Amino acid sequence: MENKHTDVLIIGTGLSGLFAAINIDPKYHVTLLAKTKVSNSNSNLAQGGIACEYNENKELHESHIQDTMRAGAYFNDEVAVKYLVDNAFDAVKYLVNLGVDFDVSKAGDFLFTKEGGHSTNRILHSGGDATGHNVIKDLLSIVRKRENIEIIDNTMALDLIKQDNRITGCIVLRNQASYYHIYAKKTIIATGGVGSVYGSTTNDLNATGDGIGMAYRAGCVFQNMEFVQFHPTALYSEFVTSRQRFLISEAVRGEGAYLRNVEKERFMIKYDKERMELAPRDIVSQAIYREMYDTWTDHVYLDTKHLDPKYLEKRFPTIFNRCKKEGYILGLDLIPVAPAEHFLCGGIKTDLSAKTTISNLYAVGESSYTGIHGANRLASNSLLECLVFSKAAAKDINNSIESIDQVSQTAIKGIPNYNYNYKPIRKKIGDYMDEHVSIVRNEQGLALTLNVLTDIENNLTKYPNLTKYYYETLNMASTARLIAKAALERKESKGCHLRIN
Ligand SMILES: Cc1cc2nc3c(=O)[nH]c(=O)nc-3n(C[C@H](O)[C@H](O)[C@H](O)COP(=O)(O)OP(=O)(O)OC[C@H]3O[C@@H](n4cnc5c(N)ncnc54)[C@H](O)[C@@H]3O)c2cc1C
Repeated sequence: MENKHTDVLIIGTGLSGLFAAINIDPKYHVTLLAKTKVSNSNSNLAQGGIACEYNENKELHESHIQDTMRAGAYFNDEVAVKYLVDNAFDAVKYLVNLGVDFDVSKAGDFLFTKEGGHSTNRILHSGGDATGHNVIKDLLSIVRKRENIEIIDNTMALDLIKQDNRITGCIVLRNQASYYHIYAKKTIIATGGVGSVYGSTTNDLNATGDGIGMAYRAGCVFQNMEFVQFHPTALYSEFVTSRQRFLISEAVRGEGAYLRNVEKERFMIKYDKERMELAPRDIVSQAIYREMYDTWTDHVYLDTKHLDPKYLEKRFPTIFNRCKKEGYILGLDLIPVAPAEHFLCGGIKTDLSAKTTISNLYAVGESSYTGIHGANRLASNSLLECLVFSKAAAKDINNSIESIDQVSQTAIKGIPNYNYNYKPIRKKIGDYMDEHVSIVRNEQGLALTLNVLTDIENNLTKYPNLTKYYYETLNMASTARLIAKAALERKESKGCHLRIN
């Protein structure tokens, strides 16, 4: 295929990629890439909602800042948290003005719910528990109508193109067949999370850490990679073979659900008397881990038996129907749950305009480290982060793109192409990450894992292969190694990083 030229290249069509595209001045040409189908993303799976003090009340803004800092074990960048909260109202209002619907009361007022770690009801939701799906559907229909935006699906970004210490686009593989370059004045990484580096995750399986891998090879700086959040309540099943687990949103606990161990005891009182089931995720996941360990089991239960099944069905239609399919009725049965990898709090280091440490390269959404999550993300702050920092990236691009010259083409390197699927390596990465770089960590396990991952990454690098499987596996190895290395270096426990020695 022919090489292409664009003004702004955005790698990813989740909330961060789409919102950045919408905020780019329409006089610039934007190319959006999706690795598989445009709608395959973590954003599309988001259930709970978007955290936002939808008002100008300074006291409430301050409480959102404090909740974020407290959940993040005060390891957050306070300036970034303030920026997030101060810009939340505007960013969400813009979304609403674009026509995105959120759930409202009969009187037409927004309905706000509460999730773990929040001191007030400030989570906007849509379709009950279909927030991500609805927001993405609406934004996609807007993007598709914009003449300056081109969406290319089934096209994987393999590597960034770096010329004279600045990024000038990326090398892509279309339909796992044709290989070409897309040149851009500005490039945004919006590739989302890293769930596939673990054996069980709530993430879309596209989340193989591609943005992290590409940015690492290009020489970007990373921060806080050790802070991986495990969601406490992924639906448990003994027979699941896929890495992907179905999430039961925290909002179910927000509406009053309890956690019980296999002896049916409500156990959160032992771990966080004040907030109980609505303590931040690091505390709840670590409590569940402890209960599973003490009871020699691999799951606990979510108890909604004291709540009205009719209300639960209306409030959480997606979760209700999925549980029903698995044989459980919300409001009548105990639902088996276990923690699963959910969110990377660290990532590619950026400033408040989402600029990375390399010229003309930005990172937004889950692949970025903006400083807002600290050692543990506050629930529903990530969709808000996507909105606020994608808008900031677009603003910076609109103000600076004119000064950039048209980029010159580079030679396309020949790479061999073999039919390897790398499954044994992917499994090995997941097994080591689950065993040693999960909720509870120790020095010996981390050091062993780091050695294994370094060997895997070195071997893969020695034998390049022009396939999606190869690049995904290489990105998984690099991402996992960066997490393990940071986890080994951080000796103290903090937020979702729990070291026992
Ligand atoms: C089940 C679930 C529920 C959640 N619920 C909430 C919630 O209620 N509230 C909240 O705030 N957060 C929630 N989160 C977290 C939140 O959804 C994510 O952090 C956020 O959506 C990430 O958005 P993103 O744009 O960074 O990435 P994503 O939405 O994951 O999008 C990534 C995009 O990058 C593309 N991509 C990846 N690699 C490549 C490549 N190499 N080449 C081309 N394209 C590529 C993918 O195709 C995709 O289009 C949830 C997460 C999950 C998994």
